[in-house]
Amino acid sequence: MTSTIFSTPTSEWMRLSGLTDKMQPKMRLAFLRATRSGKIDTEELTRSIAQIVGQSADTSASQSGLIFDTSDPTYMLLVENLVSQYKSLLDDKESKQAARNEAGENKLVNTTGLDRFSATRLQRAANSGMSKTELEKLRKKMLQQRGNLIANTETNRAINSALDALWYVNAAGREVTKSITTRRDGRVCPYCLPLEGIQEAVGASFDTKYGVFQYPPFHPQCRCFLFFEVK
Ligand SMILES: [Zn+2]
Repeated sequence: MTSTIFSTPTSEWMRLSGLTDKMQPKMRLAFLRATRSGKIDTEELTRSIAQIVGQSADTSASQSGLIFDTSDPTYMLLVENLVSQYKSLLDDKESKQAARNEAGENKLVNTTGLDRFSATRLQRAANSGMSKTELEKLRKKMLQQRGNLIANTETNRAINSALDALWYVNAAGREVTKSITTRRDGRVCPYCLPLEGIQEAVGASFDTKYGVFQYPPFHPQCRCFLFFEVK
């Protein structure tokens, strides 16, 4: 017998629980706070992410009537994974060096928290003689945009990773599967479209032609989510 855990689609459930709406502003704020000083405060970021993921797991648990023990090693591993992904995302030294090489490092410019593309743009603007004030304005605008992108993507990652870990620890000998579900609208990218409906055991990884993923997002701004079933 197959019974569906969520009587409503997961996307609808996430909307009803308000999880996405609650997490996105927090993620955005954590990113902006951590990059505000021009240096990345990894300790503050670690604390913020752990808190956001912890709350997400707690909300998931209470919404679905399951138990999620935050002292469980599975939970700690989940938080550690997210934090290390987040850290490398913000402090990508290789991209920074590549941006400098591409634009030519004539003038020193603060590119903390920026991706390679934006860092190159900022470096070029500095080289072409843009004033310090204008450069700082542009950097802040780029940080805002990156904050939004990270907030959207990382919120999706936190929700899906929390749900995967949540069902994994609550399976209790039952066979639980997860399927990739796209938003099924005109905005689904060609990258995710063929992944619709692919099924795996809870806790396992999806071996796609793009790489190995345990849960969405599969790329920045990916809106895919998981659908869980108990067999
Ligand atoms: Zn996707």
